[in-house]
Amino acid sequence: MAYKPSTLALHAGYDYSTSLQSRAVPIYATTSYVFRDTQEGADLYALRKPGFIYSRLHSPTVEVLEERLAAYHGASSGLAVASGSAANSFLLLSLGSPGSKIVASPHLYGGTGTLLEHTLKRLGYETEFVDLNDEAALRKAITKQTIAVFGETVANPSGYIVDIEKVAKIAHEHHIPLVLDNTASPPPLVNPFDFGADIVNYSLTKLVGGHGTHLGGVILEKGDFDWGANPHFKDYLNAPDAAYGGLNIWEALGKPNYKKGQSKVVTTKIRLDFLRNLGPVLSPFGAHEFLLGLETLPLRAQRHAESARLVAEHLAAHPKVTWVNYSGLPDSPYYPLSQKYFKETGPGAVFGFGLKGGYEAAVKFIDKLELWSNLANILDARSLVIHAASTTHQQLTSEERLKAGVPDDLIRLSVGLEDVGDLIETLDRAIAQAHKK
Ligand SMILES: *Cc1c(COP(=O)(O)O)cnc(C)c1O
Repeated sequence: MAYKPSTLALHAGYDYSTSLQSRAVPIYATTSYVFRDTQEGADLYALRKPGFIYSRLHSPTVEVLEERLAAYHGASSGLAVASGSAANSFLLLSLGSPGSKIVASPHLYGGTGTLLEHTLKRLGYETEFVDLNDEAALRKAITKQTIAVFGETVANPSGYIVDIEKVAKIAHEHHIPLVLDNTASPPPLVNPFDFGADIVNYSLTKLVGGHGTHLGGVILEKGDFDWGANPHFKDYLNAPDAAYGGLNIWEALGKPNYKKGQSKVVTTKIRLDFLRNLGPVLSPFGAHEFLLGLETLPLRAQRHAESARLVAEHLAAHPKVTWVNYSGLPDSPYYPLSQKYFKETGPGAVFGFGLKGGYEAAVKFIDKLELWSNLANILDARSLVIHAASTTHQQLTSEERLKAGVPDDLIRLSVGLEDVGDLIETLDRAIAQAHKK
């Protein structure tokens, strides 16, 4: 019987009978694993036998997290790393080489924008930023060198939503994977694999962890992508890898399995190459925090989203509020996509709004606001607020900010799990104080 995601979030990937009947997933705090004899050591290194060697490659607590997240999404496999940034950079590096091109949405997390525009550029990758939902622009941007179409399912603070189904179809016509950073909208909000995405990345730091305690990231691979159909992947995923004894990952693990949706080409490649050789692993302690978070993710995500909808509706009706960019409101340009992908839950807990009095009022409001913490994270259990123009988007000019959907008066909210009546009351009080003469 196939269990539902909220059941899998509690059980998948762990068999307590292998761990002294421990009901909770144990933290295996060890760097290395003893070989029973030299033959076993040789077999493990040659991938002839499954098992653990050294915790930079993989370790049992982290493996439960990877398998549980994969099961929760109906993916073939997952690879956990030390941060969401590591997940995005490793994934993009693993698909290409100098000369490769990425077609990306301009509505991205600041760090990811910098990764594409500067870090990967220095390594010889080119990125073209286009509105992924603009079919003509997307088709025009895709070339023979393109290795991925990349975006964030729901971006903040602009509220932009990728039309997953439409973009996946165009990417697949060119045998290119659609890669989505789904940090702000994990299931039960949306599972991008249901609509054609091929790889889904997360910063686990945010809603999956859910309590603002640890950094982590994951790359999830759906497992049915045909990496053999695009000659561009012949140099990387579909070639003998000198860094791992000449192993051709596609031939060995992908080709025999992708039609069953069980290919693990990307996660294996990154584990054997980037994780092994560059090294930013997730610790078993971090994995344990994320496993706890994942157990209640379905409940928490629903509540975050529901409270955000109530807060957004309240603000939209407030006489001192000039605009609210929550895409679940009918005046949002992304409302139709919000209805298509988030009809049940609403589009998530992070959005922006502006006050009469602009920048000045925004700053005063934030300084007067109780309960909400003014800081640079999103999707903590506690409610968060930040003034984007003076912090996260400080390094852009006013004009660049406007293009990125971040006007100077934008106040970004991340609606937490407190009583929503309390949240609305504190917002109202701070708005009144910001407008006091
Ligand atoms: C926070 C965030 C990241 C980066 O994750 P870290 O865990 O902080 O490295 C990437 N993408 C999105 C959408 C984020 O919100």
